[in-house]
Amino acid sequence: MKEFDYVIIGGGCAGLSLAYELEIHEKLKDKTLAIIEPRKEYKRDKTWSFWKVAPHNFDDCVKKNWENFSVNIPGKTNYLECKNFPYQSIDSGLFYEKIKNKLKKNENIFFFKNIEEINKQNSLVFNSVPNIKKNHLNLWQHFCGVEIKTDNDIFDEKIFNLMDFDCEQRESVHFFYTLPYEKNSALVETTWLSKMNDNSQKDYENQINNYIKNNLKIKNYEITYKEEGAIPLFYPLNKNEKNKINIGTAGGMTRLSTGYTFLNIQEHSKYIRENIDNIVNARKFEIDRKYQFLDEIFLRVLEKNPEKMSDVFFRMFKTSPKTVIKFLSNKSNFLEDLSVIFKMPKLIFIKALFD
Ligand SMILES: Cc1cc2nc3c(=O)[nH]c(=O)nc-3n(C[C@H](O)[C@H](O)[C@H](O)COP(=O)(O)OP(=O)(O)OC[C@H]3O[C@@H](n4cnc5c(N)ncnc54)[C@H](O)[C@@H]3O)c2cc1C
Repeated sequence: MKEFDYVIIGGGCAGLSLAYELEIHEKLKDKTLAIIEPRKEYKRDKTWSFWKVAPHNFDDCVKKNWENFSVNIPGKTNYLECKNFPYQSIDSGLFYEKIKNKLKKNENIFFFKNIEEINKQNSLVFNSVPNIKKNHLNLWQHFCGVEIKTDNDIFDEKIFNLMDFDCEQRESVHFFYTLPYEKNSALVETTWLSKMNDNSQKDYENQINNYIKNNLKIKNYEITYKEEGAIPLFYPLNKNEKNKINIGTAGGMTRLSTGYTFLNIQEHSKYIRENIDNIVNARKFEIDRKYQFLDEIFLRVLEKNPEKMSDVFFRMFKTSPKTVIKFLSNKSNFLEDLSVIFKMPKLIFIKALFD
């Protein structure tokens, strides 16, 4: 069986981002790479959005940038500006296409459907397949989004809605998220933060239809794209081993309080590329421990007080937008951390600290 210098298990966001990063920095000129990916074809399946707090390789796959956003709870709306860190949405279809076109030019890169097809004994392995055991105590961010086209111009395409809590909570945390791409098209998503043990939360289609009709007041629309997913708000069980490094969700790149993962994956890819010759001995790349600690407390509060979370999120965005964006994107300094923490209701957070 054929052997390779590098093996990437899973050619999704993290696997392909890493392969691309290595390729454009000429790290695969004299090295061979096998990418193991079972999917039959690549097509658009996700919309990756985030505040652009760091450079990345995929500006040409951005569907849209916004410099303004809103957050609302029943009866109150907060309008915020994010000129310093525009919010970007990446079309995964364009992302896959761009990377595939680049990688196919290098004869040292091979795709396989199954790991059994190669011998990885002597390879440096990057694994992006998460090891998740079913556990009814785990929290998830689960959601469904549809892209709609309307007959009339309805949306203000200059401002997106990050969180609209003006909806049924069903003893969980629930909000809608609307990304207007044009005056007559938008991605509308229903999002739950929960243990996924209430099946009624998964009647996504009804929720979205009702929201579009009753909240957005849109009568006639056509659905042009749909995506569905569940992001674990806990770390998968994967452990790094000698010659095996976990990347992506499997590598702990998800910020647990928000589900944001894309930009962390890009930063991890860059770190691996910079240290590729000695990556086995380099320090483990991880989301700063202070965020891991704060997110754990945040999720404990969320679990115990779901009914208070809309207010908690609303308060968080009462800090200056630049500060809260840096905090949510792992880029805040100590003073910025404090100014977000001080906006939180004290008692429930102190209680969670001692739980
Ligand atoms: C619908 C959706 C929307 C999201 N939106 C955002 C967002 O807006 N912003 C953000 O920051 N994050 C977002 N995320 C979270 C995160 O960015 C994505 O999940 C991202 O795709 C994670 O990258 P990954 O490489 O770890 O996993 P994936 O992209 O899922 O890649 C894993 C790959 O492994 C392959 N695979 C599975 N089993 C095997 C096997 N046994 N052997 C080999 N390969 C295997 C899969 O086919 C897949 O291609 C979203 C997630 C989902 C599901």
